[in-house]
Amino acid sequence: MSWMDVQGKIYHCLECGASIPVEHEGGRRPTQVSDLVVWEQMELAGRHGGSDDYLHEEGLCPGCVDALEQREAPRSPAAKIAKLHAELVDLASSLQRRIFDAIQETAGEWLERLTQSELRSIDPAAFSTTLGKASRDSAPEEIHELACNYLEQSNNALGGVLREHLHQATGLAEMEEEYAGRVGPLIDRLVAVIDKVPMETAGLDDSPAVVLFFAKDTSARESLNPLVEYEATVRQPVDPGSGTFFVSTPLAQTQLNGMAKAFLPENVTSIVEDVLAQIIAGRIAAMKSFR
Ligand SMILES: [Zn+2]
Repeated sequence: MSWMDVQGKIYHCLECGASIPVEHEGGRRPTQVSDLVVWEQMELAGRHGGSDDYLHEEGLCPGCVDALEQREAPRSPAAKIAKLHAELVDLASSLQRRIFDAIQETAGEWLERLTQSELRSIDPAAFSTTLGKASRDSAPEEIHELACNYLEQSNNALGGVLREHLHQATGLAEMEEEYAGRVGPLIDRLVAVIDKVPMETAGLDDSPAVVLFFAKDTSARESLNPLVEYEATVRQPVDPGSGTFFVSTPLAQTQLNGMAKAFLPENVTSIVEDVLAQIIAGRIAAMKSFR
């Protein structure tokens, strides 16, 4: 737990040397950062100098990213990884959004018609020890908790019934298949590039890594502690300036692989399960028959 007096942040372009200052709302103020940030900032301040009240972040300005891409894009493995990853994020998130929208709508309509007696008949034993205990005096939060317990104890039997309905009504299986068919090969391509990328000594601890540049909105509020986020760690930039800066991020091979595999089809299936469980619990808590 470390604190630093922070007035703002200065972004440094490693290519053209431009420095872009961003002031934080509330001016100079103690802000909670992690020990790692303190060490990192000591190193960066040694490199860039200037006032102690500003944090430093290195990367590339938009102009230099454009120039770099034109110069190296086809050859540089780092640029290839960044490009494939951006493609992956775009495709995976648009397909995921389609799946979730379809689920939200259809599941919502189905659950609207769900009755207390159906809940009982799906798993009588789980019902009697959970939702069966709810009365008209129970607060919605209590019912929500009982609903979560019901789902857990019945091994999400209701989720299974709903899933069956979604398969027929929304073509969930087909959408999941399409996701696997299009996103899967893109992940394979990305992993193949990652496997071959030459690692440089780049990390803070001089571990082998590849430096990638990720677009960052410099006008957005951010937690200055990468490990947690609450009011003492979060700062809001004042009067948004130019907006985009490309932050250099050294990533080791395992991190790169994790980045690619975050979009594996089986992860989507488990997110779908979580979304369904949340919708179900929320819906049951709102059921009139429990009020
Ligand atoms: Zn630049």
